Amino acid sequence: MKTLLELSGVTVSFDGFRAINNLSFQIGEPELRAIIGPNGAGKTTFMDIITGKTRPDEGRVVYGEKSESLLKMSESQIARSGIGRKFQKPTVFEAQTVRENLAMALSNPRGPFDVLLYRKTAKGAARIEEIAEEIGLTHELARPSGELSHGQKQWLEIGMLLAQDPRLLLVDEPAAGMTPAEREHTTDLLKRAAQTRAVVVVEHDMEFVRRLGCKVTVLHEGSMLAEGSLDHVTKNQDVIDVYLGR
Ligand code: ADP
Repeated sequence: MKTLLELSGVTVSFDGFRAINNLSFQIGEPELRAIIGPNGAGKTTFMDIITGKTRPDEGRVVYGEKSESLLKMSESQIARSGIGRKFQKPTVFEAQTVRENLAMALSNPRGPFDVLLYRKTAKGAARIEEIAEEIGLTHELARPSGELSHGQKQWLEIGMLLAQDPRLLLVDEPAAGMTPAEREHTTDLLKRAAQTRAVVVVEHDMEFVRRLGCKVTVLHEGSMLAEGSLDHVTKNQDVIDVYLGR
């Protein structure tokens, strides 16, 4: 597995407060990775650094086979280079059908979705069917997405991101507010997506992380506290002390 993204010695301060402190991190392609850590650990800031929303004070962030510096790229250049992000709340175009949402995502270059960019193509129609099957919404294609359940909207948005074929997908707490059955489906979906790309999942729900069955990175006070399998990191005394609060 080759490295897709590497952060080395990254530090971010807000008014002198170190939200990220000398953090180094690597993810391969393909790979599925879970990021856990208590509130304030720096998980959101970590993702903001990768998407270019927040710029580090120190350190390096390199991406792709040419080890290009993400620090020299604008947010939209980073998105176009294949880094997609799913925020916690689902954002789909509620008045449009599931099919239209997927068609729009397919018509868009990588980056923010634009409802005005919408082209119907035969190739697109086949790809929409494929993605709908992957996200479990084949029978909902004609429904306005505003009528979907919370879980279905999350899957649709993941499907829209997959339509843009990211090399690295960042997903923030996908299982929040989902039923156990929806969580299981979400696990399968993310595992499948990570067979051909890098997927980073920030998640609080330990059962969900267990089911992902992937390497886990534990953040605490902006630094990496432990890394390895969930069993490995939950046996780590530092993790037990600060994260599990025992
Ligand atoms: P997490 O997502 O793990 O809860 P965050 O990355 O949101 O953690 O925050 C890490 C720390 O940085 C927190 O203490 C937070 O209050 C602080 N922080 C984050 N963003 C800002 C900001 N824009 N200005 C000041 N402090 C911030």
